Amino acid sequence: MNYVATVGLEVHVQLKTRSKMFCACPVEFGAEPNTHTCPVCLGLPGALPVMNHQALRMTVLAGLMLGCDIAPISKFDRKNYFYPDMPKNYQISQYDMPLCTNGSVPLHDLAYPKDAQKNIPAPDKEVHLVRIHLEEDVAKSFHFENSTGIDFNRAGTPLMEIVTQPEINSPEEAFAFLTCLKQILIYGGVSDADMEKGQLRCDCNVSVRPEKQAGLGVKIEIKNLNSISGVRRALAYEIRRQIGALRNGEQLEQETRGWDDATSETFLMRTKEFAHDYRYFPDPDLVPVKTEILAADVRARMPELPKAKRARFVEQYQVSAYDAGVLADDLDLARYFEAAAKGAKKPKNVANWILNDLQNALSDAGKTISACPIPPVALDELVNLIDTGKISGKQGKEVFAEMFATGKHAAAIVKEKGIEQLSDVGAIEALCDEAIAANPKPVADFKAGSVASLNFLKGQVLKLSKGKANPQLAGEILEKKLKG
Ligand code: ZN
Ligand code: MN
Repeated sequence: MNYVATVGLEVHVQLKTRSKMFCACPVEFGAEPNTHTCPVCLGLPGALPVMNHQALRMTVLAGLMLGCDIAPISKFDRKNYFYPDMPKNYQISQYDMPLCTNGSVPLHDLAYPKDAQKNIPAPDKEVHLVRIHLEEDVAKSFHFENSTGIDFNRAGTPLMEIVTQPEINSPEEAFAFLTCLKQILIYGGVSDADMEKGQLRCDCNVSVRPEKQAGLGVKIEIKNLNSISGVRRALAYEIRRQIGALRNGEQLEQETRGWDDATSETFLMRTKEFAHDYRYFPDPDLVPVKTEILAADVRARMPELPKAKRARFVEQYQVSAYDAGVLADDLDLARYFEAAAKGAKKPKNVANWILNDLQNALSDAGKTISACPIPPVALDELVNLIDTGKISGKQGKEVFAEMFATGKHAAAIVKEKGIEQLSDVGAIEALCDEAIAANPKPVADFKAGSVASLNFLKGQVLKLSKGKANPQLAGEILEKKLKG
């Protein structure tokens, strides 16, 4: 029997605001523990929350970028629970009136894991969203040998929770979804979505069912995954485990599981009997929010989406769809390309240099594009020198290496090294005459039909020019002289 897996994700994203959700404490990763706290984010009795306008704005922006409906009126609720890392014992969240509903994330081929890109079962799939709501993050616990410490710096960080429909069907699709979502959030400047810093965390709901069964199987939740590849591996393990259990005739039960990255296995955390009743009710300290003016303002200043950028790169710069995909994959790389390609005569050649030589050099040097020693305009200059025949492609590689190492401009290096290509027709003609006069046998061979002899003569011209003659031009002139 064949089984089908169904996955829904709940993604928590820390917003890139300067201050926390309900107080003025700064949001900063890696600060000395408990240095960014106040009565509000410590949850002291009687402290009153004040909404962060920027966080509302960013959530509305994320919603609009993802094609969501923005609720005209939204409110905050208390989610009651015993939280060891939240002393007020409720989290301010949103229950029945979230800021955003519906919307979707289009999956792009290049967002799938590299080894799965050749065989994408549902290309151009869109994963639909249920909702996006805004809440506050909790503090972070650190477990020591005999005690536990709590760092409240994270408590109160604005957190966006994005919930998908259960319509992801494989670990690879979940991987692509998270990659695309992360890209859109970065494009919007909403979050850096750095999973290593805990800025994007993911819970997965997984079920499997026999292919012919209409209803979904038993839903099992995997909590708190903190890397995209971890999500892929955890889902692969869990889907295999559930199918194995069903094949053995076992009954699956609704439960919450954790993921152990070291053993690459999921483990049982709690069963359904311990499901929480959070007793949500509206937070009496916060008034409902009217979004009309805010949403209109955000809508008027929407950044370009990855999908639109890819299409524009193909249209405006004549790069291939694949290259456009790679360039737009990283916003910094896309910006670099545009800055270099804007004034270029052949932007496609600029793209080739970026995607081959530049990216190789960067990865060899362990640098990212934002720390690139060659400014975009300088790369355009280099490509231009090659395209206009001032230097050969081979010389270009040499100049490029020097530019990357020293940060000097191409023209300066060409001058310094005296490697300018000889493209002067008169000068090349003289060299061709010299080569023809000195090599009567190959000349005769060529006239008798030997094409290889032309290459030999071309080599002689290049040699006479000390490698500086434009090879294409030398070949053309030689051929003309010998045939004429
Ligand atoms: Zn605070
Ligand atoms: Mn949440």
